[in-house]
Amino acid sequence: MDVKRILWPTDFSNIAEKALPHVKSLTAQYGAEIHVLYVIEDVAHHDGWYGAFEQKRVKDLMQHAEKTATHRLSQLCDKYMEGCPLYIKHVAVGDPAKEILKLIEKEKVDIVVMASHGAKGNFRFGSVTEKVLKSSPVPVTVVPVEPSK
Ligand code: ATP
Ligand code: MN
Repeated sequence: MDVKRILWPTDFSNIAEKALPHVKSLTAQYGAEIHVLYVIEDVAHHDGWYGAFEQKRVKDLMQHAEKTATHRLSQLCDKYMEGCPLYIKHVAVGDPAKEILKLIEKEKVDIVVMASHGAKGNFRFGSVTEKVLKSSPVPVTVVPVEPSK
């Protein structure tokens, strides 16, 4: 298996970070790039609910979220990936699982590494991980995380 690009999706939770040791060791082993993706869940599609003024506010909010997300992705790279030589940041807007699947195709990702759970960390398997596992065209490494509840 030739692994050039590894995708680590994160919702910025501590639980998502449990995948990092695996991401880093695979990256070192293959000399691969790490693609990191955060998906902003879209609120703008409810536009029937907002008047013209509110739509502008929603747009401002989304722009702010995008700026903050890019900054947080940079912080992750500074904190966990010394020098970040092969680190590529992605921010998308929409449904997390759908955007993860889109990025796999777009960036020709070879393998996805992600935690079984995310911010919610319920007893049941995370819904994003489950959807990605079911539909991904490439191998997905799921790092099991003990759920908190
Ligand atoms: P729930 O299904 O109730 O949200 P959860 O938060 O515990 O439960 P998931 O959301 O499936 O579980 O999170 C599992 C993994 O999916 C995360 O560790 C992360 O890799 C990815 N993920 C979840 N949300 C996002 C997001 N907004 N952007 C990028 N990756 C995400
Ligand atoms: Mn979640």
